[in-house]
Amino acid sequence: MHPAIPQLVDLQRLDQLIASLRSDLEGLPKRLREAEAKLNGARAAVTAAKEAHTQALTQRKKLELDVEQWKDRAKKYRDQSSSVKTNEAYKALQQEIAHAESEASKGEDRVLDQMMALEESERRVKHVAADLREAEQGVTADKKQIEAQFTEEKRKWTAATGERAELEKKVPEELRDLYNRIARKHPGSVMAEAKGEQCRGCGMRVLPHTLQLLKSETDEEVFRCEGCGRILYSQEPIPHAHKQAAEGAAQS
Ligand SMILES: [Zn+2]
Repeated sequence: MHPAIPQLVDLQRLDQLIASLRSDLEGLPKRLREAEAKLNGARAAVTAAKEAHTQALTQRKKLELDVEQWKDRAKKYRDQSSSVKTNEAYKALQQEIAHAESEASKGEDRVLDQMMALEESERRVKHVAADLREAEQGVTADKKQIEAQFTEEKRKWTAATGERAELEKKVPEELRDLYNRIARKHPGSVMAEAKGEQCRGCGMRVLPHTLQLLKSETDEEVFRCEGCGRILYSQEPIPHAHKQAAEGAAQS
């Protein structure tokens, strides 16, 4: 197996990490919008409750006005009753007075009922306003968490991208080109482990002879799967890899 293969495996690990971080980072603005959308429901409930309360207030004023009108009417009839000439007209007026007073009294009951409805709508306004405050606090916490995650993932992404650039420099040019070419077809899975006599990328059989060479310390060939074209490698044992990795780590 070619001695640069472990570096390619590492390159692939970084490519996968970078892709996954990028996908996370791209998803975060959407999560922020979703958090914000949670508030819209709570805000709409507050608006609706306030509107209902305003309507209840208007209704109370209207009912109070009704009572006033019936009372005024009763008063007007009473004033007239002192100056009527006939008994019949007097009786008729008395009936009108009784009717107006009865209506005023019914109206007062309605005002009382409406006061209760008003208390209820006022409680509802307070209740949904508290819900909104709670939602705002929750969303603030969510946003803070999302922003912290963004910063952290951006940091990891920058580190991984830098590490990848450094690593790529160490890979022989022709292998780098090959890797990048295959990556266009198989992004994030250019390297396929040959295990159990199979390419783990596509399942195609790997010849025992190839397997043997993949495991050999002295062989420096690059083998590609005949099925999918991925670069084959073997995990056991990769003496070069471990030695190089250890040396690389010691140097850096
Ligand atoms: Zn394959």
